[in-house]
Amino acid sequence: MTPAVPTAQLADRIRRAGEVAAQHDVELLLVTPGADLRYLIGATGASHERLTCLLLPATGHRAPPAVVVPRLEVAGLAHLGLPELGVEVITWTDDEDPYRLVSDLAGGPTRVAVADTMPAAHVFGIRDALPEAEQFLAGPVTRELRMRKDAAEVAELRAAGAAIDRVHARMAELLKPGRTEEQVGADIAAAIVEEGHTGAAFVIVGSGPNGASPHHDVSDRVIESGELVVIDIGGPLATGYFSDSTRTYAVGAEPSAAVRRAYEVLQAAQEAAVAAVRPGIPAEQVDAAARGPITEAGMGERFVHRTGHGIGLEVHEDPYIVGGNELVLEPGMAFSVEPGVYFDGDWGARIEDIVVVTTEGCERLNTRPRDLVVL
Ligand code: ZN
Ligand code: ZN
Ligand code: ZN
Repeated sequence: MTPAVPTAQLADRIRRAGEVAAQHDVELLLVTPGADLRYLIGATGASHERLTCLLLPATGHRAPPAVVVPRLEVAGLAHLGLPELGVEVITWTDDEDPYRLVSDLAGGPTRVAVADTMPAAHVFGIRDALPEAEQFLAGPVTRELRMRKDAAEVAELRAAGAAIDRVHARMAELLKPGRTEEQVGADIAAAIVEEGHTGAAFVIVGSGPNGASPHHDVSDRVIESGELVVIDIGGPLATGYFSDSTRTYAVGAEPSAAVRRAYEVLQAAQEAAVAAVRPGIPAEQVDAAARGPITEAGMGERFVHRTGHGIGLEVHEDPYIVGGNELVLEPGMAFSVEPGVYFDGDWGARIEDIVVVTTEGCERLNTRPRDLVVL
């Protein structure tokens, strides 16, 4: 059973979501299964063709908080304690129109916000059932809540970070020349579960030239001695909070001096970016801190992605650490710092830690060595 978030805490999240929705000038939030729904009422699971949807009124709007759910799935919500949260449960059967139910409950809103990840089929179904209502995205509302982690959430992210660090600590047993990326990846996926995750959400084993593709997966390529291998791995704990950490390893033999020099620049860039993290600065300043040393070394064009992404109930969420993001960092914000350099067709490297902004600076949730170690 998934460890439950205390009811009082969910009640507080629901209340604050209503307040933020009102500030954003929407009358009703419509939230289908996904990270927002898990955050607000503790419900897990994914959206599919049958509509499950939380109706969450903005403060001052007259609709009751309710969940519309298929009759055959209502048992799955029983453990959530929705009545204690003041959330009515409304079931529908396969011969009924769930969008009509939503419009009957909605209280005649003119501005509704739908969850960012709501399937388009449901967005259109709701639009047709509420023709007077203009639709907006709920992301700007829910991210106001989810972006600042409370102490319990930070504790989960810290546990997730420690769990993925234990997987990286086992890399010498798993990552060896002569093995394929797929073989190494399968062992890593098993280790991710053994070390306390409920699954491996992603396992990137990018050896040699494959390391130059940041979102490479695994392949049947045989890892050769003297190559660098990018290992970017993570998964969720039972509470839904994710780990995500990258280390780049040299296998079998020392890499060339040129590779080592470039790696040292990358390591300095990652350090500089982590050192820059503190409350009160814009997110883009962390990105600039990572980019500085890499650009100075003439590799600016090799760093082809943003410096980081927020993390929590999703692997990628706000805040994004990217040029142009003027969002001011605050204590409790958790995100990756993961600069990389990529030489197409040749090799690549990335170093990634999750950090949480504290009152003075930040706490690193991944602490494995960042030097280029030869396994
Ligand atoms: Zn990524
Ligand atoms: Zn990441
Ligand atoms: Zn990653």
